[in-house]
Order: sequence, then C-alpha cells, then structure tokens
Amino acid sequence: MSCIFCKIINGEIPSNKVYEDDKVLAFNDINPVAPFHVLVIPKKHYESILDINDNDMEIIAHIHKVINKLVKENGYDKTGFRIINNCGNDGCQEVKHIHYHVLAGKKLDWYDA
Ligand code: IMP
Repeated sequence: MSCIFCKIINGEIPSNKVYEDDKVLAFNDINPVAPFHVLVIPKKHYESILDINDNDMEIIAHIHKVINKLVKENGYDKTGFRIINNCGNDGCQEVKHIHYHVLAGKKLDWYDA
C-alpha cells in the first residue's frame, strides 16, 4: 500500500490525531497554513469524490458531521473557518486519498488554501 494517508490510518506513519472513529480520522496537517489546520479523511481509500458512488455518499455527510464537531469544540463556530477539498491536478491535490482541509484561527486570504 503506497498511499501515505492509508499508512497514517494503519499507524505505519505517525500523526497528531484530533479525532477518530470507525469511519474517519482527523489529524493536524504537517505543513499548516493557518493556526488550526486539520485534515479529515475517510478510513476507506477513495482517491477523490469522483470515486464515491451513491452507496458511499454517507461518508461525506459523516465527514461534515465530524468537521462540525471539531470546529465547535475549538470555538471556531464563532469566528469562522474554511473547508477545502482539492481534486485532481488542476485542483492541486497532492495526496490521492480524499481529504478535507479545515482551516481556522485567522482571517483567511483566498490564497491561504
Ligand atoms: P492536498 O494538496 O490537498 O493533496 O493536501 C495534502 C496535504 O497533506 C498537505 O497540506 C500536506 O501538508 C499534508 N500532508 C502530507 N503528508 C502529511 C503527513 O504525513 N501528515 C500530515 N499531513 C500531511
């Protein structure tokens, strides 16, 4: 398995976990662009949302539920935040395992993504 996020999920690569359940893992981005920069990923490997069919759509709702919880726990429901999901080459997706960036903790410029 060469996917680095799958390696994080199975513990081969360490991460700073901020949330975990049976379907999802959230951890701090190694190269943060904001004071709060967390990646939320499904434990099942999908390259991007293009791989998610109707039967798997529930995972996207679940990821949003986890983001909602993390944002509120850290007080960013008051100040605002940004969710980013990069897809493919023009979307500058480096890691080919679907992930949602959650950025907060400062006034974000458009190019902070
Ligand atoms: P992308 O450009 O949307 O694919 O974002 C990939 C993100 O993964 C980047 O923000 C990287 O900093 C982050 N990243 C890559 N490797 C690791 C790691 O080992 N731990 C945590 N974050 C990582």
